[in-house]
Amino acid sequence: MTNPLDTAIAQFESAAQRLNLDPGLRQVLATCKRELATSFPVQMDDGSIKVFTGYRVQHNLARGPAKGGIRYHPSVSLDEMRALAMWMTWKSAVVNIPYGGAKGGVIVDPKSLSQTELENLTRRYATEISIIIGDNQDIPAPDMGTDERVMAWIMDTISMHRGYTVVGAVTGKPVSVGGTLGRKEATGRGILYLIQELAGDHGISLDGATVAIQGFGNVGGVAATLLAGEGARIVGLSDTSGCLYNGKGLDVQTLWRRKREGASLSDLGGGDCLDGAELLSLQVDFLVPAALEGQITAQTARHMRAKFVIEGANGPTTPEGDAVLAEKGVVVLPDILANAGGVIVSYFEWVQDLQFFFWEEDQVRERLQRVITRAYREVCARAQKENVSLREAALLLAVSRVEEATRVRGIYP
Ligand code: NAD
Repeated sequence: MTNPLDTAIAQFESAAQRLNLDPGLRQVLATCKRELATSFPVQMDDGSIKVFTGYRVQHNLARGPAKGGIRYHPSVSLDEMRALAMWMTWKSAVVNIPYGGAKGGVIVDPKSLSQTELENLTRRYATEISIIIGDNQDIPAPDMGTDERVMAWIMDTISMHRGYTVVGAVTGKPVSVGGTLGRKEATGRGILYLIQELAGDHGISLDGATVAIQGFGNVGGVAATLLAGEGARIVGLSDTSGCLYNGKGLDVQTLWRRKREGASLSDLGGGDCLDGAELLSLQVDFLVPAALEGQITAQTARHMRAKFVIEGANGPTTPEGDAVLAEKGVVVLPDILANAGGVIVSYFEWVQDLQFFFWEEDQVRERLQRVITRAYREVCARAQKENVSLREAALLLAVSRVEEATRVRGIYP
């Protein structure tokens, strides 16, 4: 499997080259500023003690406090955290919100833990990284394998250490403890707004357009239900159990409800069960990879028949896969823009927390649409001006903003 850090560095170097960045600043932006690795014990339900390893990596803080999710997954590694932290820096910059990038994670399969073990692990991990996170320093959020319950435990742990409630210490919390309305669905909703823009620009009607989505979790599940609500035909969905296909369109509402109750797609009817890998080669208008990194390689890209790829996941396409897609004329909406809805609404949540003043859900949606659509327009304009792909344009825009902030602040001391 491709190392996501190699992908992130290759993407950055290509943008740096085109921007003709100063070699020193180039080195600064290619490196993560701060990396915390920790091994810590957790008491399991049977009384035994198990040691887990986790990380928190901050890439660049020139534009504001660090921001990025926390992932619980067996494949978490330091290089993966570095790549994801770097992508968070570019993501915040491309949508122009005042954050730097970070990412954290623990090497664990959260499904293998009981509720008590998960809480113990979370509270201990939060304590270990508490020396570098906080409402003005670095604000975590959910990612794969974590959810609002985990965020509530982290917020509570930081608050216990400080001796008072720090609602702004994490985002993606339950609404009852300072979360914002509209956060859970934000990434999927951002994808909907962007697909609406793309479809409009290319003269495609979303009503009846075909869609396939890899990953039926927080991002993929919400995107699927919102797109189906706009009349799109979701013909393929996949999760770790396999791919469900129905050319006439899947009953997404029912599947999503059952999935949230704990079912796997392969157990649910309503379509043909295919091998998970087949999802990527379905003939569709819009393909949304919303699972893991490194899914679209040169090999998978050769078999793909989608017209548009909207990267719901972070880093789903390798540079080699990207080159094949470009050759085939597939339009790729890059991750740092496509899945930015989550960090945009996380930013709204943080702003509300700092002000102790909460917004209505329609205000959240309206502002999300405004911010993500503006970023899309800026990326399209840059792509046209420089005759580059949307990914290159998004990176040029993001890297130049971060480079400017780093340069204007100067090198301390
Ligand atoms: P999640 O854990 O809620 O869902 C992940 C889904 O992917 C699950 O349905 C899982 O079964 C499926 N999956 C895992 N491996 C797969 C494989 N090999 N093939 C097919 N399906 C597979 O996670 P999520 O929050 O939806 O995140 C998904 C991706 O989106 C990640 O790359 C994450 O970094 C990115 N992302 C998430 C958010 C957010 O707000 N949650 C924001 C931006 C980006």
